[in-house]
Formats: sequence, structure tokens, C-alpha cells
Amino acid sequence: MLVFAKIKSVQEKLKSLKNGTTIGFVPTMGALHEGHLSLVEKAKKENDIVVVSIFVNPTQFDNAEDLINYPKTIDKDLSLLKSTYCDIVFTPTPEEIYANDIQSQSFDFDGLEFQMEGKFRAGHFNGVGTIVERLFEIVKPHKAYFGEKDFQQIQIIRKMTEKRNLHVKIIACPIHREMDGLAMSSRNMRLTKEQRTAAPFIYETLKKAKDKFGTKNASEVVKWVENEFKNHPIFRLEYVEIADEDTLLPVETKNPAKKYRAFIAVFAGNVRLIDNISL
Ligand code: AMP
Repeated sequence: MLVFAKIKSVQEKLKSLKNGTTIGFVPTMGALHEGHLSLVEKAKKENDIVVVSIFVNPTQFDNAEDLINYPKTIDKDLSLLKSTYCDIVFTPTPEEIYANDIQSQSFDFDGLEFQMEGKFRAGHFNGVGTIVERLFEIVKPHKAYFGEKDFQQIQIIRKMTEKRNLHVKIIACPIHREMDGLAMSSRNMRLTKEQRTAAPFIYETLKKAKDKFGTKNASEVVKWVENEFKNHPIFRLEYVEIADEDTLLPVETKNPAKKYRAFIAVFAGNVRLIDNISL
């Protein structure tokens, strides 16, 4: 496994590959867990080589404290990647990516950016679009792998590749969960013991919401979830929404021809967790 911090070095290596070598790319912010590794494994099955980037992208953080507290475990990350099928790791610094101008470009994602995460994390998706486009430019992957844990992010990246005519296939990968149902996340390691013990409640509630969506309309299910979190001793609900998978707009009347998902964001203290479920 080769590790490069410089754009020039990783590009030289990629250019030296035999013509026709397919590249699978997995962008991450590090603090890796089995969820990330499942993306790497899928990428290796579908491509000749796998490139993983580890870069905590400052422009996608709307909250300075969250950026400072974001876990950084580079040595552990590299040894985990060594144990999988990763060929190349790209670990640039913010200066390498942004030079002296740590700023986002402004994107038009046809409104996808104004739903859910977009309502609560100002500028987040401009930061995501900026870094993902930049990394695509550097790595030039054939396929790029993203987790459904960040479902809105996948739809936004698909929209970006379509609108900017980028030649990369976006592959969505299922959410990897802990045994008790909690969606794996780098932020989970910041939970206290008490918060961690309570955390399966989030997915339990989503599963019950899915059952209820069989017989009730979306607004009734949303109200039911809101009520489950009302006065919860550990979690504060930021939002719950049932939305169309393609448009990400909240469902008004159910249409059997459409696919829907329930999306949730909650705070445990100052740790923000998100999850979603296909309905
Ligand atoms: P992050 O490092 O959190 O930016 O995540 C990097 C990639 O891993 C993103 O595409 C995430 O959606 C994906 N990912 C994070 N957690 C999970 C998970 N529990 N299951 C599947 N994919 C995940």
C-alpha cells in the first residue's frame, strides 16, 4: 500500500499505471471503521486498484467546534487500510488542496441542497461539492463509492457529476451498522458510555417508523417520531423527514411508483448523529 500526501506524487503514480487500469475511489475523512472498509472492499471487487483519500475537509464543516473535535486517528486508519485491499492512500493537508484559499465554490444542485442537512448545515454541501470535485480531478476514478448513511450527499454528488459532465460512476453502498443497530460513524467514538448505550434507540425508532408508514401517512409518522424523542433524556431531535429518494422533497401523498426514505438527525450532547432507512 502506497501513501501519498502530495497531489503531484499521487498523480505521477496513477499516470504510471498500465493503460486500461480501472480505479475505484473511496473519499473519507478518516477515523475509519468497518463502514468505510465495506466501501473499500466493494471498490476492490469492481476495479483493478483502489484509492482511498483521508482528508478532514474544513469547508464542509458549518460548525468550527465540530471540525476541531473531529476524530483524527491516521496511524490506526493506515493499519486498517493495510489489512484490506487498499492500494493507494491519499492524505493531503488543507494547504495542498486549497493553497491559501480555504473556501468553497458555490453549486446549484437543483434544490437538493436546501433539504434536510442543507437546512441545518449552512454551506455544507458547497464544501462537499468542492472537495469531491477536486478529488475526482486529482484521482480521475472510474467509479467512486459513497455510503447511504449520507444519502443526501450521494444524491448531491450524482447531481454534480451529471451537471458538470464528470466521467465517474457513483456507487451507493448500504449502511453498515453496529450489532445493536447504531449506524457506524466516526462520531460514535465521541459518545459517552451512557449515550452509546442509548444510541440504538435511533435505528429502533426508524424501524418502527417504517412499519407505521405501511398504514399511516407521512405526516402522522413524522409526528409519531417527534413524539418519541420529546423529553428524551439523552437525545434531542433536530429533524425527522420522510422524503422522496430522488427529489429529497418531503412526501405529501404516497405514490406507489416512488421510493421513499425516512431521515433523521439527533444530538447526543454536542455530538450530531444522522441515520436513514428505506421505506
Ligand atoms: P466520512 O469519513 O464520514 O466522510 O465517510 C466517508 C464515506 O464513508 C462516505 O461515503 C460515508 O457515507 C461512508 N460511510 C460512513 N459511515 C458509513 C456506514 N456506517 N456505512 C456505510 N458507509 C458509511
